Amino acid sequence: MNQTYDAIVIGAGVIGASVAYNLSQRGLKVLILERKSVAAGATGASSGLVRMHYDIEVDSALAWGSFQFFRNWRERIGGECGFKKTGFLQIVAPEKNAHLRANVAMHKRIGILTEVVTADEVRKIAPMFNTDNFELAAYEPESGYADPVLTTNSFIENAKARGADLKQDCEVTGIRVSGGKVVGVDSGKGSFDAPVVVNCAGTFAGRIAKLVDVEIPLDTWTHDVAFVKRPSKVGMHPTVIDDVLSMYFRPEGELTLVALEDDNRMGEPPESDLSRVDPEFVMRAIDRICQRIGDMEEGALHSTHVGRDGLTPDQRAVMDKAGPDGFYVACGFSGTGFKLSPAVGVCMSELILDGRAKLVDISSLNLDRFARGELLRGEHSYGDIWK
Ligand SMILES: Cc1cc2nc3c(=O)[nH]c(=O)nc-3n(C[C@H](O)[C@H](O)[C@H](O)COP(=O)(O)OP(=O)(O)OC[C@H]3O[C@@H](n4cnc5c(N)ncnc54)[C@H](O)[C@@H]3O)c2cc1C
Repeated sequence: MNQTYDAIVIGAGVIGASVAYNLSQRGLKVLILERKSVAAGATGASSGLVRMHYDIEVDSALAWGSFQFFRNWRERIGGECGFKKTGFLQIVAPEKNAHLRANVAMHKRIGILTEVVTADEVRKIAPMFNTDNFELAAYEPESGYADPVLTTNSFIENAKARGADLKQDCEVTGIRVSGGKVVGVDSGKGSFDAPVVVNCAGTFAGRIAKLVDVEIPLDTWTHDVAFVKRPSKVGMHPTVIDDVLSMYFRPEGELTLVALEDDNRMGEPPESDLSRVDPEFVMRAIDRICQRIGDMEEGALHSTHVGRDGLTPDQRAVMDKAGPDGFYVACGFSGTGFKLSPAVGVCMSELILDGRAKLVDISSLNLDRFARGELLRGEHSYGDIWK
């Protein structure tokens, strides 16, 4: 006889781990199935930025809900998430000043700790920055970054402590449906029964959905990351998204992590090689960080890596139920899902158990928006996150 659970979560990235933790916390007996190992997908390569600045409210609200966990992890979840408060700056080009002000006003309505700051004020926060090509930035003094692998493991360990089982090296190959309802899954390690299946399979989520005839327009986004040894005279700097130079960067001890918003590779198959960065990437990344921090010219490349995430047509997530009863989807986090993961887990568990999410209204992240051609765009948009 198959083992029976209350819910099966497909994928042990940070999203699956958070969903599994929250369902376990609500008293369900949960099974997590992972084709490789914990955090083997996007999560293990994530840059880990934790900030609330978005140009749509649902993302900012999810990030703010999540931040309450990151800054108080041990008490809220237990274990470690590696959160480091560095302060966060969102730098925009002068033609986006009005958008920045409107977005910061929206963030303040949510309760987020943030201010509009001038270039002169940025020089006080980060004296090492060149500030001559922008006028305004948004500043979140409490934001920073966390460790995605620690975060995921903490969710998994705490789910296990509440009775969840984890099977790694265990690829889901089929979803069984009877009478229009999900009844279980087939996998490389046998079949398991459950009335609830949550698709948290990252770049593979489209393929999982097809098993129950659900179409998710999911592309992939492949993203190069560099670590640069920071000259000591630069000193510690905040975490930054720099829309003027299409890059983001943050400190990591004596290193600075740098990655770019443009020239990311879209459409690569989920299982294709991740061992090499684009040959042009390193020079472009170093050139840009040196434009913002001149003294970085004396820095040295430390290392690079590549990661891949699921990308939707509007670069926003899907959190919904779809297809047969009991089938749920949390995917398409489009390169920005780590910081949202604690609230995503809460909201998905509320959707599954209470019929709708309460922490944040996630109804705009429905799957049908793509078929209706109603893509999500911020009222005061900065354009696509990834170009
Ligand atoms: C390089 C990079 C940098 C990033 N930087 C940031 C950042 O700074 N801040 C931020 O908030 N977000 C960032 N992100 C985005 C964030 O990391 C992702 O949105 C998030 O990790 C997605 O988590 P996930 O659990 O949905 O997917 P994943 O971590 O990809 O997990 C999905 C899991 O499902 C498993 N799986 C797939 N198919 C099956 C199957 N058939 N059976 C069983 N298991 C299966 C996979 O092996 C995988 O482990 C970044 C992403 C990348 C790649």
